[in-house]
Amino acid sequence: MSETADVIIVGAGVQGASLAFHLASRGQRVIVLERSAVAAGATGRSSGFVRMHYDLASESYLAWASYPYFRDWQERVGAGDCSFVKTGFIQLVPPELSDNLRANVANQQALGVGTKLISPADVARIVPGAIVDDIEVAAWEPGSGYADPSGTAAGFLAAARKLGARVLTGCEVHRLIVAGSRITGVESSKGIFQAPAIVLVNGVWATPLARTAGLDLPVEAWRHNTAYFGLPQGHGPNFPVVIDEANGVYWRPEGQGLMLVGLHGGNEFGGDPDGPMAPMPDEETIDMITRVCARLPWMDQGTLRTAHGGQDGITPDQHPIIGPAGPDGLWLSVAYSGTGFKTAPAIGCALTEWMLDGAPRLADLTIYDLGRFARGALIVGEHPYGHLWR
Ligand SMILES: Cc1cc2nc3c(=O)[nH]c(=O)nc-3n(C[C@H](O)[C@H](O)[C@H](O)COP(=O)(O)OP(=O)(O)OC[C@H]3O[C@@H](n4cnc5c(N)ncnc54)[C@H](O)[C@@H]3O)c2cc1C
Repeated sequence: MSETADVIIVGAGVQGASLAFHLASRGQRVIVLERSAVAAGATGRSSGFVRMHYDLASESYLAWASYPYFRDWQERVGAGDCSFVKTGFIQLVPPELSDNLRANVANQQALGVGTKLISPADVARIVPGAIVDDIEVAAWEPGSGYADPSGTAAGFLAAARKLGARVLTGCEVHRLIVAGSRITGVESSKGIFQAPAIVLVNGVWATPLARTAGLDLPVEAWRHNTAYFGLPQGHGPNFPVVIDEANGVYWRPEGQGLMLVGLHGGNEFGGDPDGPMAPMPDEETIDMITRVCARLPWMDQGTLRTAHGGQDGITPDQHPIIGPAGPDGLWLSVAYSGTGFKTAPAIGCALTEWMLDGAPRLADLTIYDLGRFARGALIVGEHPYGHLWR
């Protein structure tokens, strides 16, 4: 006996959850199969940044088109809570990238993004105690902030369930079933499920599963640590989300008394995504403190509270793979390369349009096709900052 659906989604991270919600909203019978628990992968470890600044206009637009979901969650989704906190967002770059930042902000403004250029003195006003003598100009997004990635995924799935979707956790998909040139279903730890459309949204674990349908994905594991530091006495969470490209570090407030910190460098690439996560080395803690304190000297009184690692799938151009691939009926939405939380609402919507209407309308997803790797047409930002993760 096998169950049938219009669409089977493999993976209940934030991308699979958003897709399930949007497909179910369009009347599709959806089954989500998740081998572990909701948000067990990258989503559950995500830093939750909701910002629009990128060196690639398409990614900025996807984040911008997603923003109304975070801001107006109840009206848009109506179940659970994404717990969006509006702190504002600042992008800092070293002087040699100032012109690129100016051009990226102009691109984003042309897309309608709420962003503007600010001076170092403005940065020092917004971020109390910040050292700004090494920067010429910064980007400021007053409406941006951070949200709860696990809550976002759970909320999308709760809303999808209300619309009739089935979500099975503890159900690992082992193999894709192909008949002739078409995909017809999946074989899982809970039996066979059949559907004319199957979407792999299983992050870093997509490569072996895609191979069962004869597809080779250029996806490897990317492991990234984040740490929470207690704010020194007398300091509250009155600072925005900051990406400090000049110092290779990002940080944001967490609740009332903590700062969440991550580094652009020192990430681990490759290896088995099911291998154990190593604890964060002491040198990385020191590196984080040094880089944060270069901007915010008062953080030298901060205290390390806890650290953890997470992982995502990453591609050679550090952008995801989205769209149809391989046998008819198989779709990919994988390898979000460390930035796929904030874009999940718009991608779920646009991918639904692509699957049901023949083309994505909300945003063009076609640049993220798998074929770009074989064509040697890797994605590069219009005014690049270089790879985000190193
Ligand atoms: C430490 C860290 C910080 C980050 N910070 C940010 C940030 O600030 N902002 C941002 O936008 N992005 C951020 N990201 C990236 C973002 O979290 C991810 O890109 C996004 O969560 C990916 O979602 P996903 O649904 O594609 O994958 P995942 O969340 O990895 O979900 C995939 C799911 O598939 C399941 N699965 C795997 N194989 C199978 C199978 N065979 N059968 C059934 N189920 C399967 C897994 O259990 C998992 O639940 C960060 C990532 C990390 C790791």
